[in-house]
This record gives sequence, structure tokens and C-alpha cells, in this order.
Amino acid sequence: MNKTIFRLVALTALIWPQIVHAQVHAPASAQPGDHVVVAMFGSDGMAAAAILQTDGSVIAEAPSFAIVLSPQARLSCVILGVATTVAPGEYLLELRSATGDPLLSRRLSIESREFRREEIPLSVTLTELRKRRDPQKTAEALYLQAIVGEFNPESIYHPGPFGLPFPLTRRTSLFGDRRTYLYADGERASTIHLGVDLASPTGTPVAASGSGLIRIARNRIVTGNTIVIEHLPGVFSLYYHLDEITVLEGDVVRIGDLIGTVGATGLATGPHLHWEFRVGGVSVDPERMLPGVLVDFDR
Ligand SMILES: [Zn+2]
Repeated sequence: MNKTIFRLVALTALIWPQIVHAQVHAPASAQPGDHVVVAMFGSDGMAAAAILQTDGSVIAEAPSFAIVLSPQARLSCVILGVATTVAPGEYLLELRSATGDPLLSRRLSIESREFRREEIPLSVTLTELRKRRDPQKTAEALYLQAIVGEFNPESIYHPGPFGLPFPLTRRTSLFGDRRTYLYADGERASTIHLGVDLASPTGTPVAASGSGLIRIARNRIVTGNTIVIEHLPGVFSLYYHLDEITVLEGDVVRIGDLIGTVGATGLATGPHLHWEFRVGGVSVDPERMLPGVLVDFDR
């Protein structure tokens, strides 16, 4: 994989003279739900990168991490998550030095993207589960946010490509669906679906989407039996509503390893896997993590 990245960088440098000059790869456009990869070859000058609105306000920022390609060569990378709610328009992608000074800034167009709308009726039990105020729910939410908000520069487990947790079956909800829950008491609540729901019978084996460190493997009230895997600094995959969990927190898994089975634990109206990716704490489209290497030089 490192060799592939090396070749792609070399090839990109050949065909794109600006990159030879700046030794930077970054996309010119993205959509809500995309992950934006900024890669700088052979330099450790980039300490961070950010996406800014034209008024200077930050919509995403992350520190860089290094992928060592050989003793002589390293790739400095930043991966930024573009939230599903980011408005289309012209933004700036800014690379920053260790002192926070701008090294380079480029235009980044955020293109519009359509998301589906869906309504989900909930039973009395699931209405109660979702509406109930419960300190345990709050504590679980804060803990998950803290884990997926971490940035550990040494956590280089999986530069890509990522894989599906099981062969694609029916997707019952897509990433970014604008969802309305219809409560049993007649009230409604709007939310955004931040993963992809893959319907499959209870007991279907679920594989790790990429190699990584198991950070969460436990039951949570809303998401049921839950696994969170750390793949790269700030990059995590999440698996909800599992029937069984077959790994422990602290385990290191390889892509394709069995981590659990499909179920309907927590807030689920039927057996399915809720599969999600977080980049810098931001939910991004898991299906866009699949094609090619994570450092995707075609974009
Ligand atoms: Zn879901």
C-alpha cells in the first residue's frame, strides 16, 4: 500500500506540474459528507490544514500525521471531514505551519448534494427509548464523542482502502438522510442519519472495514451493542445494533476480521447494521471511504 501511494504521488507529480512545484495534493472540490485528503510529499512543513469560509470562520480543521513510505520518504497527510450540513459555495483550504501561520491557501468548491427524506414510525417502546432523559445516555454520548474526537498521531493502522462489513445487501437508509421520527404519542423529531443502514438477517457476520484498534466494544442504550475502530489519527469506523460482539476494547484487528454479528439491539426497528465513519469527529459517507486508496489522487 505504501508503495502504491508512493507511485501515485510520483505519477501525479509527473502529470500535474503545479504539484511538482508545491508538492501538495488536495482536491479542488468536494461535497457534503466527503473526506478531504491533503497530502504533502517529502515535507514535514504542514502541521495542520483547515477549510475556511470566506469570512475566515473554520468549518473543519485537523493536525497532520506522517505515513513513512521508506527511510528517505514520508507523506504528510491531513484528513478533513465535510459535514453533511455544510452549505454549497466557495471555501478556502488552508495549510498551516507548526506556528499556525498559513503556508498555502487554495480555493475549495463545496458542490451541492441531494439527500433523501424519510419518516420512521416508532413503537411505544422505541419512542420511550429515544425520548427518555437519562444521565446514562448522556454519559454514553459524551464518551463516544470524546473517543471519536481524539487525534493520536501514532495510530497508523490502515491507510486504505476500506472494505464493506459484509457483501452489500439492501440499504434501508443512506448517509445524510433527513429523517423524521414519528413518535407513538404523535410528536415528531427531525434528525440526520449519519451512517448507512445495511439490512441483513440477525447473525450475519460483520467484518472490520479496515485494520485498527478496537476503542469501543460495549452495549449503549441508543445504539445497542456497539463497536468503534480507530484506523488512522482522527479516522474511526462505527458499527451499531450488533447482536453479538466478538472483540474486546484494546484488541488490534485486521481488515476483514470478524468483530460481531448483525442484530437489532438499541433503537432499531429490525435487524440491520448501522455503519458509520468519523473523520475529526465529523460523520462522513462510509461508501465514499471505499474506492481506491484513502489518499485518493484521482480527485
Ligand atoms: Zn442507521
